[in-house]
Amino acid sequence: MPQDCLFCKIFAGEIPSKEVFRDPEMMAFEDIRPVAPVHVLVIPKEHVPSVAEVQSQHQALLYRMVELANRIAEERQISREGYRLVFNKGPQAGQSVYHLHLHLLGGRAMGWPPG
Ligand code: 5GP
Ligand code: ZN
Repeated sequence: MPQDCLFCKIFAGEIPSKEVFRDPEMMAFEDIRPVAPVHVLVIPKEHVPSVAEVQSQHQALLYRMVELANRIAEERQISREGYRLVFNKGPQAGQSVYHLHLHLLGGRAMGWPPG
C-alpha cells in the first residue's frame, strides 16, 4: 500500500470516515465535502491510481463497485429520480485523490454538460 495514499489509509481505518459499507475488497463512505445531498465514494482495497489503470483482472471488482453504488442509491431512495456515477481521471477532470473511486451523486437535479 502506498504510504501516502489517503484512500489506502481510509480503507485501513488509519483515517476515520463515515462508513456506509465494507467488505474485504471494497468499501463505501461519505464524501467529506459533499456536493449533493447524496455523495458517497466507493473504493477498492487495491491501490489502482485511476480508472485509466483498470485492467481485465478488475472486471468483477468494477461490477461490484457499480452494483454497490446502485444499491446505496436504492437505499437512499434516489434511484427513481436518478443519480450520477462518476470517475474523475486526471487534473482537467478534477481528480484530486489518485486511488480509484466511484462518486455516487444524487438528491438534486444536475446539469449537463458538467462544468
Ligand atoms: P476526486 O476529486 O479525486 O474525483 O474526488 C476525491 C473526493 O474525495 C472529493 O470529493 C473529496 O471531497 C473527497 N475527500 C478528500 N479527502 C477526503 C477525506 O479525508 N475523507 C473523505 N471522506 N473524503 C475525502
Ligand atoms: Zn491507495
